[in-house]
Amino acid sequence: MKKTVSLIAGSLILLTVLPSSIFAYTYSDNGKPFPDMNFTYYSTLSANYSGPASAAMTDWSRAVGATYTASNSTSKEIHFSDNDYGATGWNATTDHHHVQFSSYDYLDEVRANRHYMGSMSAVDREGVFGHELGHVFGLGHTTDPWTLMCNSLNGRVVVTPQLDDIQGVESLY
Ligand SMILES: [Zn+2]
Repeated sequence: MKKTVSLIAGSLILLTVLPSSIFAYTYSDNGKPFPDMNFTYYSTLSANYSGPASAAMTDWSRAVGATYTASNSTSKEIHFSDNDYGATGWNATTDHHHVQFSSYDYLDEVRANRHYMGSMSAVDREGVFGHELGHVFGLGHTTDPWTLMCNSLNGRVVVTPQLDDIQGVESLY
């Protein structure tokens, strides 16, 4: 749901080239934002969110071999947080800040919106975090509801990385 304008622009360009389905590996948010799949993260998630986020990280580890190592607040590549942002229209967002800190040039901010996620099951929260972690890899949105990178507004029905999502990551890393 993030960067709506740029994603729509990117999708329109690709739609003119591709005849049918859009696959995750055919485009990305910002190319390859991280040098590898070994991430450090810092979490300030509430109790009901940290478990699903951990489950989502485990899902991606199993799917593509990514690693997620808890780190301190001043040296991390991913920051997870949750807050009630109100009726924004998004369950969660991922922003690529790419600011300089410590020895890294990268920082992604994954923010969960309790306004929508508060009533979700743990499994559905896992799906939201998994989707956002797809953005962390650099994947954009798909239109197939049987892929994790499908926007929930388009009826995503899976909560773990599927073949298309995996191929998307493998094409980038
Ligand atoms: Zn998204």
